[in-house]
Amino acid sequence: MDVLLSEEERMFKKLMRDFAEKELEPYATEVDRRDEFNWDGFRKMGAMGLMGLHIPEKYGGQGGSYMNLYIAMEEISRVCASTALTLSNGCCLALRIIYDYGTEEQRQRYVVPAARGEKLCCYALTEREAGSDASSLRTTATHIGNDWVLNGSKLFITNGNVADTIIVWATVDKSLGSRGITAFLVEKGTPGLSVGKIENKLGMRGSPTVELLFDDCRIPGENVLGEVRKGLRSALSGLDGGRISIAGQAIGIAQAALDTSIAYAKERKQFGQTLAEFQAIQFMIVDMKNAIDSARLVTYGAVRTADAGKHFTREAAQAKILASEAVMDVTRKAMQIYGGYSYTKDLPLERYYREAKITEIYEGTNEICRIVVARSLLT
Ligand SMILES: Cc1cc2nc3c(=O)[nH]c(=O)nc-3n(C[C@H](O)[C@H](O)[C@H](O)COP(=O)(O)OP(=O)(O)OC[C@H]3O[C@@H](n4cnc5c(N)ncnc54)[C@H](O)[C@@H]3O)c2cc1C
Repeated sequence: MDVLLSEEERMFKKLMRDFAEKELEPYATEVDRRDEFNWDGFRKMGAMGLMGLHIPEKYGGQGGSYMNLYIAMEEISRVCASTALTLSNGCCLALRIIYDYGTEEQRQRYVVPAARGEKLCCYALTEREAGSDASSLRTTATHIGNDWVLNGSKLFITNGNVADTIIVWATVDKSLGSRGITAFLVEKGTPGLSVGKIENKLGMRGSPTVELLFDDCRIPGENVLGEVRKGLRSALSGLDGGRISIAGQAIGIAQAALDTSIAYAKERKQFGQTLAEFQAIQFMIVDMKNAIDSARLVTYGAVRTADAGKHFTREAAQAKILASEAVMDVTRKAMQIYGGYSYTKDLPLERYYREAKITEIYEGTNEICRIVVARSLLT
């Protein structure tokens, strides 16, 4: 499949693989066990320029392509998917939205330090009553003098307790429905902002998922991101790139499960022969390879569309569906190939199995992604 990459992209892939294997893999199991934000991984990604990979050099980034971002996501997820989540959520989703919709002043203040890896951004849209139906959010923003005052709460916010800059979507007028939604930039430490419940999750444990509470949280007027009442657009636009990066995350986890399954099948013997000699095991491995390569191929199509500057909403949703469903199937088969050993915490396989599931849920569930694809085909 590397034949579909340019020489430069293949070199970048090798760089990312070496980085991930040398700097992140040795303690990936420990990151999962500790269940805390992986500061070391974040700093190492920052030092490599990865947190600004997708941001123009003028704003502290690397000016990289969607393909660069995809490759980084796949290779880092192959060893530590929760560290890759910080790259996806911080760089690809939140930071990119601030860059796309921010004023020059906001870019200098928020994008430049985050692109250099000195600060972290996060994306706060989901609420208890507003998940897939984000437009029904209830957090309010009231205009008082030149300031805005936020009240409400956000749920399941990736890295919300450690991020320096939070994009918060709130309504300035509930009666307007989705047309009242506005995006705001809230800095860590702003009075009235606090962290609520920290979720105890199945996987992605190196990246906290938290509730954020806003109690008369007052922010200056210049912290509106984009236009007032046009916030839903920024929230949804960021998801196309986000879905490509989640496809990369899913494919990276799946590749790890396949690699380890092949190695184990060649080594483990039962009934006087290796597992690799049993046709049942061979067929499972072929199905795993087919699922990964099909998903990767469709994802490459989405990435190339994005890099060509074309609209890629449908392609990104297709990639995310295929890759997340592939990783579910691949990790299940890998567990089967390893037999009882797969079920222990001595091997990383059970972690891959736990990490896989969320890729079907976040950045728009696969049902919502199917709605996106259906709309594009049928209307
Ligand atoms: C680890 C983790 C990290 C997250 N990070 C963030 C973050 O950083 N920022 C953020 O804002 N959010 C984040 N989320 C929230 C995530 O995006 C939502 O969980 C997701 O959008 C689904 O919303 P929900 O959980 O409320 O499910 P619901 O919307 O209640 O959906 C429940 C089920 O109903 C289905 N469903 C809903 N509507 C339809 C429909 N119209 N047609 C068919 N089926 C439908 C869904 O597909 C799903 O299967 C995160 C969640 C997790 C678990």
